[in-house]
Amino acid sequence: MFQKILIANRGEIALRVLRACKELGIQTVVVHSTADADAMHVRLADESVCIGPPPSRDSYLNIHQIVAACEITGADAVHPGYGFLSENAKFADILAAHNITFIGPSGDHIRIMGDKIEAKRTAKRLGIPVVPGSDGAVTEEKEARRIAAEIGYPVIIKASAGGGGRGMKVALTEADLEIALQTARTEAGAAFGDDAVYIEKYLEKPRHIEVQVFGDGFGQGVHFGERDCSLQRRHQKVWEEAPSPALNAEERARIGGICAKAIADLGYSGAGTIEFLYENGEFYFIEMNTRLQVEHPVTEAITGIDLVHEQIRVASGGGLSVRQEDIKFNGHAIECRINAEDPRTFTPSPGTITHFHTPGGLGIRVDSGVYSGYKIPPYYDSLIGKLIVHGRNRVECMMRLRRALDEFVVDGIKTTLPLFRDLVGNADIANGDYDIHWLEKYLAKGE
Ligand code: ADP
Repeated sequence: MFQKILIANRGEIALRVLRACKELGIQTVVVHSTADADAMHVRLADESVCIGPPPSRDSYLNIHQIVAACEITGADAVHPGYGFLSENAKFADILAAHNITFIGPSGDHIRIMGDKIEAKRTAKRLGIPVVPGSDGAVTEEKEARRIAAEIGYPVIIKASAGGGGRGMKVALTEADLEIALQTARTEAGAAFGDDAVYIEKYLEKPRHIEVQVFGDGFGQGVHFGERDCSLQRRHQKVWEEAPSPALNAEERARIGGICAKAIADLGYSGAGTIEFLYENGEFYFIEMNTRLQVEHPVTEAITGIDLVHEQIRVASGGGLSVRQEDIKFNGHAIECRINAEDPRTFTPSPGTITHFHTPGGLGIRVDSGVYSGYKIPPYYDSLIGKLIVHGRNRVECMMRLRRALDEFVVDGIKTTLPLFRDLVGNADIANGDYDIHWLEKYLAKGE
């Protein structure tokens, strides 16, 4: 087992990882920018190293500074959290070259899944169902027309190097294709420095369902069930739940089994998430994230397993603490992402939190790094905390969520809490009856 882990992240996830390290009796080092000197994880860590000024590129993305911090403090492993360097293959390779363990998969696996065309090809080869579409990059309009006609309109043009929902264009009919192809390529080139695009069938009313997987480092793969993250705004997840209200036990076991086998065949090590669009009973792979997800706590709530403990165990060569048959699903969990944003316009609302009071009681978990008097810096994303609620079934979970949202107090800044108070009383949400477009339509109506 590791002696000392360096946490290369900030905010709630840095604290989340720190808690797991403490439980395992591992020393902790955190790195932080000058803007985060007063952060909770900095106060609670055994050691901290300031690695630069506020902009992420000069601090949380500065590989040289982070490696230097490992060497100065004698850390033998790095946990990257999510975002920042968590899916940076070069970072994983550089750490390996310095004999420091990256708590995550190999640089090669990160690289494959970071290229969307390569990821899709790999998924297909491993027996994972994919969205019908081009077999690789498409440059010629004639070829695009042929493929689109074959799979049928509407189609979506996506950037190979894409991320964050950028570089995607829908063509409803053949008349839209030329312009969609051109704009997607121009946008992809400008945003990612790579104008390679590919074509997929556009699914009109899918849900976003993702499967949590783990490779144990010895060629075994397991799955921890699915999460439904269909409630999104601008492709950003807002509310996540496990299990999905749309799946039955048989579908869960089938897609979970396919994913676990794929992970084993790939020889993957550590945590991963295989993301699908789900429509009319079919799953369509869209991408794989090679890291811990923001929404991992809903899976922890229904399985009772600490996924960060498992990541650390696997990275240290100790394998997983559970086999597939030990993973049981118990009840229902929902996570609300609480952002420091105006609940109507979603403009960021940095500033000082004058009062912060979190709900409690059975089945309630709050993952947050903020406190009363904390000043939210304007440089980073606006997530200030996650409320995770667990109940024996979805109805109990929703009742408890409503009560917990009523207790939650954040004064001094605007937050998205009022949005969740509205959602929890909505009939479609109560029925689990929503797809990936539901939230945007609801917000557009201004209800
Ligand atoms: P990114 O990496 O940019 O987030 P994804 O491939 O994960 O891109 O897609 C992001 C979102 O775009 C999906 O969650 C979904 O809402 C939408 N999307 C992607 N592909 C399709 C498709 N074939 N049909 C319909 N919607 C899609």
